[in-house]
Amino acid sequence: MKRVAGLISAICLVAASASAGDGTRTIGHSVNDRSIIVRRIGPRDANHTALIVGVIHGNERSGTAILRRLRSMRLPDDVSIWLVDEMNPDGAAANTRQNARGVDLNRNFPYHWQAQGRPWDTYYSGPEPLSEPETRAARRFILNHNPDITIWYHQHMALIVKSRGDLRLERLYAREVGLPLRDIGPLPGTAVEWQNHRFRNKTAFVVELPAGSLSLRAVRRHARAVIEVTIRSL
Ligand SMILES: [Zn+2]
Repeated sequence: MKRVAGLISAICLVAASASAGDGTRTIGHSVNDRSIIVRRIGPRDANHTALIVGVIHGNERSGTAILRRLRSMRLPDDVSIWLVDEMNPDGAAANTRQNARGVDLNRNFPYHWQAQGRPWDTYYSGPEPLSEPETRAARRFILNHNPDITIWYHQHMALIVKSRGDLRLERLYAREVGLPLRDIGPLPGTAVEWQNHRFRNKTAFVVELPAGSLSLRAVRRHARAVIEVTIRSL
């Protein structure tokens, strides 16, 4: 009986996390029911953790090359990195900035959210904070895992956006990849501003990659920079 109960709870556990057993799991679904998938590289109990998001604006996808590179690298023992290739899989499939309802997901987070625009406008905020399933999946994952570092890749301003996280780490990343660190002013409803407000001792920032695809050299520098800032996170 005990064995049966153990088996049932093991099955339930697998179902609850939708795990493939290798650190890969589905954290939510898009408007069009595409899976939002996270892969963990490195040990589950590492002291330094990062979440790296390749795509939130579906027409800004160069960051995925950095995530591919990270998957092939051996990490330092004490580092664990969660990789989400596409937080906006519908937008990535359709090559649109917005999700399938025309919402700019990076204006849909709950901190300083402001109603802006209409569906398919560049900065359409959605009808209310967290109205979109992709934003809710991201929020849930971040609340559950509380990564020390979060990096969101965008294009194509070719700079690191100064955030309210640990400036020392943002400066380090900028130096490692040879891009400037710039303040582009407060924006409503962004993932990074919500995270840095919600988790005061953690750091989330945006990396604006240049236009076009990255050179292999650039991909390597960014992947190294991700690991460097993760190791140095407190
Ligand atoms: Zn963007």
